[in-house]
Amino acid sequence: MTSTTVPRFAATALIGAALFGAGCAKPVASSPLAAPPTGNATASGESTATSAGGALPASASDRPATRAQGDSVTTRERSTATIAPGVYVIRHEDAPDTFPQGNTTVIVGERDVLAVDSCYLPSSAKKDIQQIQKWTNKPVRYLVNTHWHYDHTMGNGVYKDAFSGLTIIAHRETRKQIEGYNPQWFTKFPDRGTTFKQRIESGKDADGRQLTAGEIAEFKTALAGIEPVWAEFRDLAPRRDMTPTLAFDRELDFDLGGREVRVQHLGRGNTAGDAVVYLPRERILIAGDLLDHPVPYLGGGYPLELIATLEAMARLDFDTVVPGHGKVLRGKAYLEQVIEFLRAVVSQVDREIHRTGSGPRNLEAVKKAVLANMNVAAWRDRFAADDKDSRDFFDGFSLSGLITATYAELWPR
Ligand SMILES: [Zn+2]
Repeated sequence: MTSTTVPRFAATALIGAALFGAGCAKPVASSPLAAPPTGNATASGESTATSAGGALPASASDRPATRAQGDSVTTRERSTATIAPGVYVIRHEDAPDTFPQGNTTVIVGERDVLAVDSCYLPSSAKKDIQQIQKWTNKPVRYLVNTHWHYDHTMGNGVYKDAFSGLTIIAHRETRKQIEGYNPQWFTKFPDRGTTFKQRIESGKDADGRQLTAGEIAEFKTALAGIEPVWAEFRDLAPRRDMTPTLAFDRELDFDLGGREVRVQHLGRGNTAGDAVVYLPRERILIAGDLLDHPVPYLGGGYPLELIATLEAMARLDFDTVVPGHGKVLRGKAYLEQVIEFLRAVVSQVDREIHRTGSGPRNLEAVKKAVLANMNVAAWRDRFAADDKDSRDFFDGFSLSGLITATYAELWPR
């Protein structure tokens, strides 16, 4: 498949606002959010997690493939992987409206089953549950939401319906956010289609820039996907039982039966209530959107605190990490790359605030200076290689969003 056929651009125009909701004053440009299968799937759709997490893309001349680090922000096919005996990861294809779906991890103990994140589309969550029932005859007893974003939580109701004894668990802040923000998605969602239509009709993006023919085609694809997604969500709108009922502040430990699981809040970062799920014996970490591959989702949150949170993550003893999006990684090299990137951007924004001035009015000037001073091309290559969707995502969402969020965190000092 070629990138010209990909409905990536449309998603990006609204993804910032959609994912980061009320906290995001301005939708953060546009970029794609999904990824092709990780390349080692077998005919059964099962794959093994083998990616070398931190391996940097080679130089432009000897890049072996178009995918960034063997991965892309665009996911076209559903795939599953067994990352340890009784520990499974489901990667979901992007929704028809181009919205990305978070990974789901399933941890089976001798007594109980714990799942991490319920993805975006109820139809995908239903498929996940059918798959879980092939992996184990035990019911899912716990569902952890790593954070409140729709692409990790909108399947909660499907789990509630399937497993009567289910407890949904989240950090205290995430529980509040799910209770507050998530029902709003049902009123906001139809606006998504309206905006896509406006972009197609005007031929311009939110900033008045002329869209290319390819971008307009992408908006048309995304628009066509609105109706089937809305058909799924419409029924959920009146439900109020999708909110976590068990909240924690720092840590909750589980013994699923021969399987120790620690649900931890390492600090704020992607949101105010990020949870990670750690399996100390198997040395597996499920990171939620604190870590996404191949390009980090940095369109909001708390960049300064994210650095400390990721440093705390790096101190955990693990060698397999399940990101919120993207393929399963080995080692800590990619995590360290993201920390390095965050440090570089934060120090640039800090310097420019002192040089240019603070306050909301100076954001654009600071952003321009930071982009001019940083070696953006090198960072883009490191994360996105020559995968077009990932490159667009890096520019339009991650870097731009990171500068904006860092500025918002720093200027009021
Ligand atoms: Zn996500």
